[in-house]
Formats: sequence, C-alpha cells, structure tokens
Amino acid sequence: MALIPIIYIPDPVLRQVAVPVTEITDGTRQLLDDMAETMYDAPGIGLAAPQVNVSQRVIVMDCGPDDAPELHKMINPEIVDRSEAKAILEEGCLSIPKQTADVERPASVDVRYLDVDGKEQMMTCEGLLAACVQHEIDHLDGVLFIDYLSRLKRDMIVRRTLKELRQAGTGAAGRG
Ligand SMILES: [Zn+2]
Repeated sequence: MALIPIIYIPDPVLRQVAVPVTEITDGTRQLLDDMAETMYDAPGIGLAAPQVNVSQRVIVMDCGPDDAPELHKMINPEIVDRSEAKAILEEGCLSIPKQTADVERPASVDVRYLDVDGKEQMMTCEGLLAACVQHEIDHLDGVLFIDYLSRLKRDMIVRRTLKELRQAGTGAAGRG
C-alpha cells in the first residue's frame, strides 16, 4: 500500500469526466487500496480517483465512526434512484483544502456499482453516506461541491483555497 498525492483546484483533471473501468485487475484493486490509505491519512471520509490524478470511475468512502470503520470501495458507481426529500449537510473536499459550505442534495440515494471482484452490488445510502457518495460520484463527472453554491460564495472559496495552497505548499488538509 502507498499514499498517492492528492491534487487540488484548479487542476484540470478535477474537471474531466472520468472513464469507466472496463476490466478489474490487480492494478484496480491496488489503486483502491492506495486510495483508501490516502483517504485515511488525509484524513477524509471519501476520495475519488480523479483527486489522485487518475481519471477512472472508482471511489472509496468511510463514513463510519472512528471505532467502527465502514470502508466502501466502488467501481463504476451510478446513482439509480434519489429521494424527493432533500437534506442540507456541510461539505468539504480534500481537493479544496480547509473550505466548507452547506450543500443541499437528495437525502437518500440508491447506488449500483461493481465490487473489487467485479460483482454488481446495490446500496441504499442515507444521511452522511448519501451526501458523501453523491459528492464522490460528482467528482467522476468533473463536478465539485462548490458548483452548487452562488457564484459569489464559489469565487470566495476558490480565492481562499488558492491563497491557502500558496501559503501551505502541499501540506493542506480537507475532508472528502
Ligand atoms: Zn471532494
């Protein structure tokens, strides 16, 4: 296992649409292991491959309590159903260090994905996990949580992030 450097805005890879995984190999499983290690080290609750400069549709998440980790590894995840009910949660992003904002999303989503053995799985995500999985799948489509904010708020976060990164070098931290 190895840590992988996380990339930050305005890196253009974060705005690309990532490609589906067509064959799950040992390389895919290694990537997921390394992404999980990188996420825990950050520390964060979710990480999408584009955030480590790999434009493929894979994500890792762990929204469990510290004493009971719940690691999820998803290949080609897809939201197949969304609740009409919405929820507002504060979100951050490891690629936009130290900035957070309230984001409104469907409160519950059903996600279809492949596990590390290539088996199709379905999972209903609620609460924090619902926000997290939507945030991470957004990354696969080049979408960031700041895209849901007003232009004024978004510009402010981008300005603060660039300033933060200039001051901190690469030693900054975020959440997902
Ligand atoms: Zn993020």
